[in-house]
Amino acid sequence: MCVAIRGAVQGVGFRPFVYRLAHDMGIRGWVSNSAAGVTIEAESDEPTLRRFLARLESEKPAIAIVQTLEAVFLDPAGFHTFEIRPSTTGTNRTLVMPDLTTCSDCIADIFQPTNRRFRYPFTNCTNCGPRFSIISALPYDRHATTMARFTMCAACAQEYSDPANRRFHAQPNACPACGPRLALWDRKGATLAQADAALVAAAQAIRAGSIVAVKGLGGFHLVVDARSEPAVRELRRRKHREEKPFAVLVPSLADALRLCHASAVEQQLLRSPASPIVLLRRRKADEVALAVAPGNPTLGVMLPSTPLHHLLLSELGFSVIATSGNLSDEPICTDEREALARLGDIADLFLVHDRPILHHVDDSIVRELAGRELVLRRARGLAPLPIAIKDEVPTTLALGAQQKSAIGAAIGSDVFISQHIGDLENQASLQAFTAVIAAFSELYQLRPQTVACDLHPDYLSTQYAEQMGIPVVRVQHHLAHAFACMADNQLEPPVLAVTWDGSGFAGDGTVWGGDMLHITPRGYRRVACLRPFPLLGNAKAVREPRRAALALLFEIFADAAFTLDQPAVRAFSAPELAVLAQVLRRRTNSPLTTSAGRLFDAVASLLDLRHLATFEGQAAMELEFALPAHPEDNSYPYAISTDDDHLVLDWEPMVRALIAEAPDNLAHAAARFHNTLVEMATEVAGRVQERNVVLSGGCLQNRYLCERLVSRLRAAGFSPYWHQRVPPNDGGIALGQVLAVRYLSSLRKE
Ligand code: ZN
Ligand code: ZN
Ligand code: FE
Repeated sequence: MCVAIRGAVQGVGFRPFVYRLAHDMGIRGWVSNSAAGVTIEAESDEPTLRRFLARLESEKPAIAIVQTLEAVFLDPAGFHTFEIRPSTTGTNRTLVMPDLTTCSDCIADIFQPTNRRFRYPFTNCTNCGPRFSIISALPYDRHATTMARFTMCAACAQEYSDPANRRFHAQPNACPACGPRLALWDRKGATLAQADAALVAAAQAIRAGSIVAVKGLGGFHLVVDARSEPAVRELRRRKHREEKPFAVLVPSLADALRLCHASAVEQQLLRSPASPIVLLRRRKADEVALAVAPGNPTLGVMLPSTPLHHLLLSELGFSVIATSGNLSDEPICTDEREALARLGDIADLFLVHDRPILHHVDDSIVRELAGRELVLRRARGLAPLPIAIKDEVPTTLALGAQQKSAIGAAIGSDVFISQHIGDLENQASLQAFTAVIAAFSELYQLRPQTVACDLHPDYLSTQYAEQMGIPVVRVQHHLAHAFACMADNQLEPPVLAVTWDGSGFAGDGTVWGGDMLHITPRGYRRVACLRPFPLLGNAKAVREPRRAALALLFEIFADAAFTLDQPAVRAFSAPELAVLAQVLRRRTNSPLTTSAGRLFDAVASLLDLRHLATFEGQAAMELEFALPAHPEDNSYPYAISTDDDHLVLDWEPMVRALIAEAPDNLAHAAARFHNTLVEMATEVAGRVQERNVVLSGGCLQNRYLCERLVSRLRAAGFSPYWHQRVPPNDGGIALGQVLAVRYLSSLRKE
C-alpha cells in the first residue's frame, strides 16, 4: 500500500510520528518527505493497514494539517523493517509551514536550570520554532534553511537522529554550544555584550526607558516599556507615528487578562500556534501608558511566541510595546546591518543574533467577530499556508492591490497567500514586494500562465504585472473583494456581494467603494451603490475627513453649505473655505465617489469626532468606538432611487436628520449611522433576492457593522457570509483575483 499525504506535514514531526506508529503496529516499509508532501510505503495485512490509515488521521501531531491522504493498494515489495528515507525532490507541491509559537516542552527546557538549553533563546523542536522565515527551498531540510551555517554539536546531532526524541529531524535544532547567539549592539554596531549578558543588558535598558530594536523571528521589533508614558511618547516621536495604536506584548495570559477582557474564543486565539496580535477590549484601569493607544477602547495584545521573547519578558516582568521595526509605512526590517541604517535614529540599542531571516514576517492581527476568528493581517504563524479551493485552476500569480499588499499563487487547487507586505507606496515596500514574488517563484517553482492584478492603472502592482511578459488579467477591485469572501467560504456564484471600502478603480471615472454586486454564473453587475459625492481634493480627502463632510453638505445645500453653523464647516478657516468653495463649484481634482469609507469619514466629522486623520481608517475606527455599550435599533431615514440600471442609496435624509439632532448624543448617532448602512444593504438584498450574501471590503473589519449585517440579513431570510482566514481589507484581494480570473474566463467561454 502506498500512502501519499499532502498538507502541512513537513517540519511538524510527522515522519517520526509515522515511524513510531508503524513500529507500534508491526508495519514494514518507509516514510519520506517529498516535494509533494509525505510519501509512505506500508506493508501488512489489509485490516492492519486500514487501522494504520485511521490512526494516521486521528493521532497525527496536533499542528500537522493533512489536506489530502490518498492510499492505493499495490503488490507488496517485501520490506523487512520500517525506516525513514532521505527526502526526494520533484515538483514542489508541498506546503511551507508557517513559523510556530514555542511549545510548552521547549518553554519548560529554557526555564529549567539543569537543562542544557537553560536560557537559550533559539530552542525549538519538531513541534515549534521557525519554519517559513528561514527556508530557502523545498523540501524542508536543514541545508535548505538559514540554519545550514551552524553545525550541530554531538548532543544536538544525537537528538536529531533519535526517532524517540522530540527533536528528531527538527531542522533548526540548536543549543548554546552550537547554535545562533545573541549580541547587544550600540547604534554604531559595536558589540556591548554577548549571549545571555546581551539579553540581561537589553532588559535593563528597556526597564530604564530606552528603545531597543530586537531581532525576532520574522524581523525587528521596537521594544519599550509599555507602562512608561515618556518612553512611549519618545518612540512615537522618533518613529513619526502620531496616534496609530501600538500592540502590546505581555508576559503571560494572566497579564493579558489583567489588561483586557477576553472571551473563550479570544483566549484561544491568544494561545494558538500562530500567536497573533488579538484585538481585545480594555479594562477600565489598565496599567499601560495613555500614549500606547490614545482614545482607543481596544488594545492589540500578544503573548511571547519565541524563546527569546519568553526570556526577555520573564526578565522584565511587565508588558512592553513590540511594534514593527520600520519607519511608518515601510516594510519590517530583517537584517541587523540594514537595521542599523534604517532604525539608527529610532532605537538606542540593538539586540541581534546571527540566524538570518530569509522571509520577513510581521505579527499577524486577528479579532473575534460573530463568534469566530477574523484575520485582519495574515503574516507570522499563518503565511504562507494556502487556502484550498474546490477545483484545480491554471497556475496563476495574483499581485493584489496597493494597500496592505499581499500576493497569491494558485497551484492546482491551492492558493498560497504571501505574508503581509505593506502599502506599495515607497521604494522600500516595492522592493519587499519584488522580493516576495521572487521568493514565491523559487519556493513553488512557479510557471504562471496568467498574472492577475487590479484594474487600477497606477497601482505599482498593476505596472509590475504588465511588464512580466505573461498574459495579464485585470480584475475590478470590488469583484476581487467579493471572490475573496466567496473563496474564504468555499462559495460559488450566484451571490450578492456587499463590498464596502475606501476606494476601488472601476474605469467609469468615479471612485467606487460603497457598492453591491450581483454575481451569477452568467455575469455580474453593480446593483446598488451609495449616492456619489465629490472626493474633495482626491488624496487629500482621505487624510481629512472634514473634506468628505463638506462635500456632502455642498451636495445637499450648495453654496449655503459654507455658512452652516456646523462643526465640519467650522473645522476649516475662512480662506480654506473660500478655496474649497471654488474647487467644489468647478469640481477640480475631485472625482465623484461612492466610497463607504469616505461616508464614515464624513459622518465622523459631522459629529465633531474627527476632522483630520493621522492614519488610514482612523475616523471609521473612532465611529465604531463611539458606539453605545448597549446598541440600539434605531436608524436614520434614507432614500433609494434608481439610476439607469442600478439602485442609488441616498444618504441625504440621514445627513439632514443627523445635523438637526442635538450634538451631545454621539453614541446614539454612531449607532443610528451604522444601522442605516445595514438597513440599506438589507433592503437591497430584499429587492435582489439572492440567497447567499457575501460581505467584504475594509469597512467589514468593523465588528459592529459586520455582526449587525449578519443578524439583519439572517432575520430577513438570507445566508450571509463573512471573512475568516483572509482579511476583508485589501490583504485578501490576491485570493479574490485568482478566483475572479477563473470566473471571468468561464464567462468568455459561454
Ligand atoms: Zn518545542
Ligand atoms: Zn548543540
Ligand atoms: Fe478595497
